[in-house]
Amino acid sequence: MLRTYFLMLLLTLTAGCGRDYYTYDGFDVTGEAGQTRIVDVELEAYVQKFESEWGQRISFRVKVSDIPEGKVGMCTTWTNGDKLAEVDRVYVDLSTPNQVEQVVMHELGHCALGRGHDNGTWTFSGLILPDSVMRSYAFTVSESNYYGSEHSRYMDELFHRNGL
Ligand SMILES: [Zn+2]
Repeated sequence: MLRTYFLMLLLTLTAGCGRDYYTYDGFDVTGEAGQTRIVDVELEAYVQKFESEWGQRISFRVKVSDIPEGKVGMCTTWTNGDKLAEVDRVYVDLSTPNQVEQVVMHELGHCALGRGHDNGTWTFSGLILPDSVMRSYAFTVSESNYYGSEHSRYMDELFHRNGL
């Protein structure tokens, strides 16, 4: 139990190290990415939530991966339009559904909406919470519970914030 907690803490703290979105010239030679909607079953419900808020279907691969360097999610795009969104396998296995959903929303925010990071804060009932799912490091368990209870507010920020 202690070890699990430590691992989760470690992942949370390192989740924001470095960028998690990249664009490369050309197309994905590995064939992993593409321009067709292929979603791993563990992530399907979260992707559908994103699509229903967006009002469009995504057109790329979303998968559970072993992501190095402590990142919990990643979005990679190529100049021909190929895209790949990934969420780390250990994070999916050890995190709460709200935490996993936040990371899926974050990576689709990069890959589908072209959004960058936003580390602003929002004061709610005297608490300082992340302003956006696009924060550069993953939400804690507690923050993700507010993401769940204030879901419509976070979706409004993600899809309707001016200056996208
Ligand atoms: Zn990011």
